Amino acid sequence: MFTKKMIAIAASAGLALSMAACSQDAGTPAADGGGAGDKITIGIKYDQPGLGLKEGDTYTGLDVEVAKYVAKELGYEEGDIEWKESPSAQRETLIETDQVDLIFATYSITDSRKERVSFAGPYFIAGQGLLVRADDNSITGQDTLGGKKLCSVTGSTPAQKIADQYPDVELQEFGTYSECLPALLNGTIDAITTDDTILAGYAAQEQYAGKLKLAGEPFTTENYGVGLKKGDTELCEKVNAAITKMVDEGAWQSAIDETLGAADYVAGPGNPPTPAACS
Ligand code: GLU
Repeated sequence: MFTKKMIAIAASAGLALSMAACSQDAGTPAADGGGAGDKITIGIKYDQPGLGLKEGDTYTGLDVEVAKYVAKELGYEEGDIEWKESPSAQRETLIETDQVDLIFATYSITDSRKERVSFAGPYFIAGQGLLVRADDNSITGQDTLGGKKLCSVTGSTPAQKIADQYPDVELQEFGTYSECLPALLNGTIDAITTDDTILAGYAAQEQYAGKLKLAGEPFTTENYGVGLKKGDTELCEKVNAAITKMVDEGAWQSAIDETLGAADYVAGPGNPPTPAACS
């Protein structure tokens, strides 16, 4: 990406007109189709089955599938993608410091995040939910959380929601959601709260069969965006065009079926969303 960006900058400065002539629309990564050796760095989660999961050298999940599709539309083959783990609290910084080009990591579009990064999408709509032990019938939804101990992740919208609106909940925050799982199983905490997509992915894992369940209905709207450098409207528009094509071609639905569908998760109302205008 740096090479391409530098070419774009040089070209626009009139310093490399011959290079500009080779490039169809310089200014974004892989503007000339992603020539040999060009890489794109994409931030994902590594510990969220059905969304972003790393097992050895294999990456799976909805975020990974949408990322691969979008990268291809930008001119990058799968082998040109360098994946980078992007925990919730680090996403804005990873983008601001150019450590990633794009982030697909269950990344909700919010006004406060928009102060530091821009978003393409949304490409999926989820909602905040609750994961409890299978034998716990005391938590049945957001109105039954008084006095309970909840676990979530620093820098996430669900942790913020609990801190802001549920003063009688004791909130334990970790760096990743998978760190909450042992605490839930051993009774140190009563529930994990985050997007229902993520929770469904954990509940469907073989090692937790019969041990965990989702409680109640989703109680927020989480619009999953593609994080990118603040103000890069050109790149944002290309990502939006790729998302739209993915939906229109049916590849979005296939990706859902293979990933969240395998965890028995049914996409809620509003899906598939139409990407918002880039600004
Ligand atoms: N979608 C929410 C967020 O962006 C929760 C999931 C996450 O932490 O990645 O904060």
